Amino acid sequence: MPLAPKTLAAFKAAKGFMPPDEGLALHSAALEAGKLGLPLLEVGTYCGRSTILLADAAREAGVTAITLDHHRGSEEQQPGWEYHDPETVDPEIGLMDTLPTFRRTLHKAGLEEHVVALVGRSPQVSRIWGTPLALVFIDGGHTDEHANGDYEGWAPHVAEGGLLVIHDVFPDPEDEFTGQAPYRVYLRALESGAFTEVSVSGSLRVLRRTGSGV
Ligand code: SAH
Ligand code: MG
Repeated sequence: MPLAPKTLAAFKAAKGFMPPDEGLALHSAALEAGKLGLPLLEVGTYCGRSTILLADAAREAGVTAITLDHHRGSEEQQPGWEYHDPETVDPEIGLMDTLPTFRRTLHKAGLEEHVVALVGRSPQVSRIWGTPLALVFIDGGHTDEHANGDYEGWAPHVAEGGLLVIHDVFPDPEDEFTGQAPYRVYLRALESGAFTEVSVSGSLRVLRRTGSGV
């Protein structure tokens, strides 16, 4: 089932970092994984651009999309850094807060009822997590600490036959300004023997859980 025109329009209008071609690959992966009948989980909501795609697939599959973020932004999104957007700062406290924009984005897309938003730090949430997941999409912090924390915390929860999707994988250091931690995590997933590559779309990698050992 391709993306509904309304969903595609909402995705294109949303603030965020997911290019359309990679977004369509994410959507296809989520549709396929959703057939397992288990939830889909995203690390790195930001303003909800990619969440729209998971929500659309969740609706199709009759499952829930879960999206996790502390909503205070990654290192490279802070004031003075390359990916900063002044509109994301809460003027009262002077810190980034992407939660209000995310909620508006999802509402406009008409997909609120298919999404559960978790506000918190990835390792703190993964530590108390117990439900197997059809798909884990890692699109959070780009430091080694954060990317490894996301992998270690969430990869074990991908169900057998489920998918692990990693964004911002750049094998060539020249292509990426925020570092190659996602690439190193991708290699780690393959080397673990628990995941097998399914597809490559730009910087998006889709892996399937085919074994244990994460
Ligand atoms: N998926 C989004 C982009 C995500 S940007 C899109 O399609 O546009 C990365 C997000 O990860 C930021 O919003 C940042 O706040 C969040 N993040 C970074 N490290 C995190 C952590 N340790 N726990 C939770 N969220 C984190
Ligand atoms: Mg990304």
